[in-house]
Amino acid sequence: MSSTPRPLVAGNWKMHGLSASLGEIEAVAGGYDAALREKVELAICPPATLLERASRLLAGAEIALGGQDCHERPSGAHTGDISAEMLADAGASYVIVGHSERRADHGESDALIRAKALAGLRAGLSPIVCVGETRAERDAGRASAIVEAQLDGSLPRRAAPDKLVVAYEPVWAIGSGLTPTPLDVAEMHAAIRARLVIHFGTGAAATRILYGGSVKAANAAELLRVKNVDGALVGGASLTAKEFLEIAEIYR
Ligand code: PGA
Repeated sequence: MSSTPRPLVAGNWKMHGLSASLGEIEAVAGGYDAALREKVELAICPPATLLERASRLLAGAEIALGGQDCHERPSGAHTGDISAEMLADAGASYVIVGHSERRADHGESDALIRAKALAGLRAGLSPIVCVGETRAERDAGRASAIVEAQLDGSLPRRAAPDKLVVAYEPVWAIGSGLTPTPLDVAEMHAAIRARLVIHFGTGAAATRILYGGSVKAANAAELLRVKNVDGALVGGASLTAKEFLEIAEIYR
């Protein structure tokens, strides 16, 4: 029934970027012309400190902004945390939740990630829910079982499927220069789509499933043209406008 959604290429800057990096955001806007906008949506998730300035810089550029995490509550006594409402107030329309670095560094559970995804939806943001297996889990033949369990545990039970984004990021591919083969990506993305259909019915065709983990200009075409891959979550290669745009260009 449903048509394929416009792909999304989202840049996850992680803990990189000071004021000077706003120039890269401006440069991305400069290369994102009307023809490319029609083919692919771009989002940049800078550190929270840059969100508001980036948002002012991008007024009218049609590049979305996202946070890299949020607290599950709208406000309260939670020193150092940022709510989804605050991200929306600063100009974000996306929020990454459950990135493997947060699962590992902050011990985030599937249940917490689901609460954060719900918080994003509550604030009007689209959550980008990250899932992915470790090298040991893949070697043990458990990759799809792990990813399916993460989806079952961390996806909001009720959500408009087109508001939701899933990012498949094998932990061993993040920042390592290693990537799964296009066949492995195809298998996992098909399994994720099937799981989404179980959760959300046929409307799940509207959920974008991004691939993430060492995406670069040099491998983007091979990884992103795979069936059920609706874009990319890009870390290192999103830090320079030139390479980030080169990745987006494969959709032109
Ligand atoms: P990478 O990171 O592109 O640097 O591998 C991806 C991510 O962690 O989202």
